[in-house]
Amino acid sequence: MASNYPPVLEELIVGLRRLPGVGARTAERLALSFTGWPADDLRNFGALLAAIPERLRFCTGCGNFAEAETCPICADPHRQRDVICIVEQAIQIPAIEKTGCYRGLYHVLGGRLEPLADKGPETLRLAELRTRLAAGGVREIILAVSSDVEGEATAAWLAHEFRAAGLSVSRLAAGLPVGADLGYADAATLAAALNSRRRLE
Ligand SMILES: [Zn+2]
Repeated sequence: MASNYPPVLEELIVGLRRLPGVGARTAERLALSFTGWPADDLRNFGALLAAIPERLRFCTGCGNFAEAETCPICADPHRQRDVICIVEQAIQIPAIEKTGCYRGLYHVLGGRLEPLADKGPETLRLAELRTRLAAGGVREIILAVSSDVEGEATAAWLAHEFRAAGLSVSRLAAGLPVGADLGYADAATLAAALNSRRRLE
């Protein structure tokens, strides 16, 4: 493809295309919009991106995004400590927080069981979860994994382990479309799914 832009813009377009949902034309439009920014704004924006590797960490407790050892949710003394909501990825926590109807803690699995892709239990953050549960005080586990085949398999596997440990295990009720990305589910749907979660016997 012959380039119509100087290399600095061309490289920016290539970089922007790595973002989800950004195609060639959008990347071009975004890159060109930067050309209208004051120089200091551009430098600040670049510095923000450059700081991500230093500033962004993961909570040593739940695996949520954090800028300190512990995320704001784990550090909040007003959160319920007897219930843990298990999600696949940290990006799903803000979606549940937006419902405003969950006051417990979280645990990020870092994926789910995918037998066909050779992703077994050892690829999930289960050791960390077991450590938290062994510390005591947890009464209920809510499984907020996706509702497709792999999500169901992961939920069944986790439910088996935690029920055996004497915990109450529930799963978000139907209401999330199959294969839905929980990170982008709307708050009302999620709130309904949380409030009518069903207990796994
Ligand atoms: Zn945390």
